[in-house]
Amino acid sequence: MAHYRGVMASENPAPSVEADTAPEQLTFADLGLDAAVLKALKDVGYETPSAIQAATIPVLLQGRDVVGLAQTGTGKTAAFALPVLSQMETGHKNPQALVLAPTRELALQVCEAFEKYAAHIKGVSVLPVYGGQGYGQQLSALRRGVDIVVGTPGRIMDHLDKGTLDLSELKYLVLDEADEMLKMGFAEDVETILADTPSDKQVALFSATMPAQIRRISAQYLNNPEEITVKTKTTTSASITQRYLVVSYQQKIDALTRILEVENFEGMIVFTRTKNETETVAEKLRARGYTAAAINGDVAQVQRERTVNQLKSGKLDILVATDVAARGLDVERISHVVNYDLPIDTESYVHRIGRTGRAGRTGDAISFVTPRERRMLTAIEKATRQPLTEMTLPSVDDVNATRLTRFDDAITTALEDTAAIATFRDVVAHYVAHHDVPEADVAAALAVVAQGDTPLFMEEETISQPRFDRDRDRAPRGGGDREGGPRRERDGRFATYRIAVGRRQRVEPRQIVGALANEGGLRRNDFGAIQIRQDFSLVELPADLSRDTIARLGDTRISGQLIDLRLDQGGRSAKRSDRPQRRSFDRD
Ligand code: AMP
Repeated sequence: MAHYRGVMASENPAPSVEADTAPEQLTFADLGLDAAVLKALKDVGYETPSAIQAATIPVLLQGRDVVGLAQTGTGKTAAFALPVLSQMETGHKNPQALVLAPTRELALQVCEAFEKYAAHIKGVSVLPVYGGQGYGQQLSALRRGVDIVVGTPGRIMDHLDKGTLDLSELKYLVLDEADEMLKMGFAEDVETILADTPSDKQVALFSATMPAQIRRISAQYLNNPEEITVKTKTTTSASITQRYLVVSYQQKIDALTRILEVENFEGMIVFTRTKNETETVAEKLRARGYTAAAINGDVAQVQRERTVNQLKSGKLDILVATDVAARGLDVERISHVVNYDLPIDTESYVHRIGRTGRAGRTGDAISFVTPRERRMLTAIEKATRQPLTEMTLPSVDDVNATRLTRFDDAITTALEDTAAIATFRDVVAHYVAHHDVPEADVAAALAVVAQGDTPLFMEEETISQPRFDRDRDRAPRGGGDREGGPRRERDGRFATYRIAVGRRQRVEPRQIVGALANEGGLRRNDFGAIQIRQDFSLVELPADLSRDTIARLGDTRISGQLIDLRLDQGGRSAKRSDRPQRRSFDRD
């Protein structure tokens, strides 16, 4: 069992704590938070504190300064917001707490988080203050009095210079994403604010990296801070194919449904972040005809066991779970894990995807990533030392092609029951003899009966998938691939190639990468997105592949099949036979 370690010896004069995954039984109540804050957390549906929260909250509640090495997506906002809200007195004219954030987007996010966690604390006011917004609104709010100000350093300095913000009563100062603030040129402002605010304030500094400048600032302005690191030493099994899909929050349920349609899955665990969300997602899946059930920390143990047994026996195909509820689950049938929400730490990611690929089988992990979460994705890749392949949302054509294949398979299976076929053959013959209708039409009519109310074809429904530019994270100022992860440039370096193996051949992205890398001498960075379709796949590779390499790759085999690699001509010249079409059923 993972647990969070005590104080470790360190070369650093300040003691250092390494935050592992949160201990299994640890709850928010164990951390010493105020009852009103706990009530809000219950509403929000968080099950357990994340690693950074478990390590930071008790230290901040003791009044100590903290330096936390943590990325976005680890739950660091709650790590500082919850202790501040638990301790602060409301109703003073001047702010008690100030959070400095590098961007307007982050400042607004932090404000929203404070408001959410303060839902049961009477009269707390939180004010975002950032550049680009008119002063009027900020000034009138400041005049009325606010408890917590969240802002970008530049605009905060403007207010301080104008005398419109009084920080003389400040008790808590948080520097969020300190490294980003410095990179954006706010070093001087940050230092001025640190120096010109009351010396007895408590300071929490969070940063994804720890450059020398931040070490100096923390040594100079913080009071014997406790240094907390989120451990990211993890590995994942190579038998699990890991993909990610960029989706907006609103698109998640439709994206999941399409994935359920096209993926060849046996049993699946869908992970959500909150208990409430497990119920909502399970209910939506049931409404769409899937056998799905929710398990979370609130579901009684007996019920949980019953549900897991149903998954084992095949009565249930989809389990929608929180991390806690699915911990240690060992069910061979789980072929797929879907991270409907990304986990809050990379170790949870590893635990989650380890629920598949059991007993020597292969497994598939698909993670939904919203554009805001691209950094968490990079952190996961870094921690697991494995790049995740981007997948695209299965198209309506993909879904319909799969439905047709399944329909064909159902006919083939039914034909194997020769006794039943003999009986119905007579019934059909009788019908044909007495009605002037071809047998094919009778078969089609029976298909209509079998199909029921669900249409065979999904209607065209456009979901415009958001994209994000991963290079924005990976190559910060001055270029260089700081994160060391794969770079997927969409600036013309890549071209899309088509290979003649697809879902029908049960090909997986890692087989494609493996085969092409071996035969073509390609490296990890040479691969962009891979889309696996029914009868072919599209692979992004360098646009400038030599003829020789293309010829060599064209002769490569995957699963025994010649892949016939060629530049994809896009929709215009794609062979019609490659596209799923509405076929009639009297094909040979
Ligand atoms: P942050 O790293 O603070 O940006 O948080 C990332 C996301 O995790 C936010 O959507 C939070 O609402 C969510 N979150 C924070 N703490 C927890 C927790 N203990 N359990 C589940 N979700 C959490």
